Amino acid sequence: MRAAGDRRLKLERSLPRALQTGGLTLCYQPIVMTESGRPVGFEALMRWEHPTLGIIPPVEFIPVAESTRIIGDLTFWVIEQSLWNLVDWTARWPYAIPPYVSINVSRKQIGDALFLDQLRTLLRYTKLVPGELVVEITETMSLGDPVETRDFLRELRGMGLKIALDDFGTGYSSLRSLHELPVHMLKIEPEFVAAAQNEARAFRAVDGLVRMAHALGLEVVAEGVEELPQRQLVTQVRCDLMQGYLISPPLEAPSTGPWLERHLPNLAHDTPAAPISVTA
Ligand code: C2E
Ligand code: MG
Ligand code: MG
Repeated sequence: MRAAGDRRLKLERSLPRALQTGGLTLCYQPIVMTESGRPVGFEALMRWEHPTLGIIPPVEFIPVAESTRIIGDLTFWVIEQSLWNLVDWTARWPYAIPPYVSINVSRKQIGDALFLDQLRTLLRYTKLVPGELVVEITETMSLGDPVETRDFLRELRGMGLKIALDDFGTGYSSLRSLHELPVHMLKIEPEFVAAAQNEARAFRAVDGLVRMAHALGLEVVAEGVEELPQRQLVTQVRCDLMQGYLISPPLEAPSTGPWLERHLPNLAHDTPAAPISVTA
């Protein structure tokens, strides 16, 4: 316990420095259409290489950042980086449909007026088309104060952003949040996808979930697609989009351009930018 406490303290002290000195990086995992494999977006995922402790996974350092005030700065940095990457892709392929970037926000951001102000300023400054930024929230985030969460999401929608409900199937997911929260997309968590491959009941549950989401006008993203049979499965149940190691691991920012070039061979001939096909 003592060692764990020491490590946490060390992380807590090093995080602000990591943010200032470039110890944090942002990776982008491609999101593609299930049927055609066409890239439509990237999920921005934070990475931290600590000078002495090595790679620290986000599941370890995000809670540390949340327990201090630094989470606001981290999220701002993620959004800023993501938006500039979007600006870059749009400038390089002005006639292509720009991929969206999906960012994860922390529960600490809910109801944070400063965060909303910063976001508005960044969007104004970068002049991006609404819909190019997707905000992912997990359902557990809404457990605190459902009304506050709903108002927060409405603010984001009001700015033209899309909202995704992340990690659906992790245990807290309820029908209520699906129809009450103003979301556009549902992301099915990796374990649920893996279970559907091995168990008939889990398969029927995923199948039913996709139908229900579609009936509510939501787009469905399957996460954690690692093997070909899983890709076939998520295509069979008509998940709209997918991401996972089979398609690509998270990429460092400079690799995203070449990846897009390889996977969007007709980039130069694409029709002028159109809004991303998110319903509702
Ligand atoms: P998430 O938002 O559900 O992100 C997807 C996680 O699945 C990522 O883990 C990704 O690397 C991993 N993944 C990708 N492909 C596969 C696959 O085929 N199979 C499996 N099993 N996993 C796959 P990562 O990057 O370690 O992030 C873990 C979690 O940390 C994220 O889950 C998210 O909740 C949080 N996180 C990451 N970056 C940020 C951030 O910038 N801000 C906040 N607030 N949270 C973040
Ligand atoms: Mg996510
Ligand atoms: Mg997820």
